[in-house]
Amino acid sequence: MIIETNSPEETYQLGKLLGQKAKAGQIYTLRGDLGVGKTVFTQGLAAGLGITEPVNSPTFTIIQEYLEGRLPFYHFDVYRIGDIEEMEEIGYDDYFFGQGVCMIEWADLIEELIPEDHIQVEIVKDLEKGFDYRKVIITGLEGVEI
Ligand code: ADP
Ligand code: MG
Repeated sequence: MIIETNSPEETYQLGKLLGQKAKAGQIYTLRGDLGVGKTVFTQGLAAGLGITEPVNSPTFTIIQEYLEGRLPFYHFDVYRIGDIEEMEEIGYDDYFFGQGVCMIEWADLIEELIPEDHIQVEIVKDLEKGFDYRKVIITGLEGVEI
């Protein structure tokens, strides 16, 4: 499905809606250029899970856990991963195959570890449609009404 947003608030609200509908065990991958709105979307999703503490990209760690919401939320940013072994070291499979919701930024760097059954979110700009325009392409969420 494709959703178009025209402000950070709209992207946040879209994330929030998905967070409210999120189910245990879901894995989201998030793609898009720097500054496209991945963090805004993630903050919305966390809010939809009932997380009130601030959510930012886990820059110095691979994973940030948030446990206060309706479901555990595991936010991965694997941008700085040196070797796939680092995922083994943090015990990634407990997160991927656990009862929480995973959000993985830069998932293509660990592509071989991503389970086939996951939800892909890609955010793209189109400057011809305005500076704040974003196209959010979601695949793998068939049957969920937005
Ligand atoms: P990323 O995490 O992808 O690097 P951020 O979420 O940190 O990007 O930043 C996105 C920036 O784009 C913010 O400054 C936000 O205010 C701005 N922005 C403008 N329009 C939108 C929109 N429609 N959706 C999301 N962010 C938007
Ligand atoms: Mg970010």
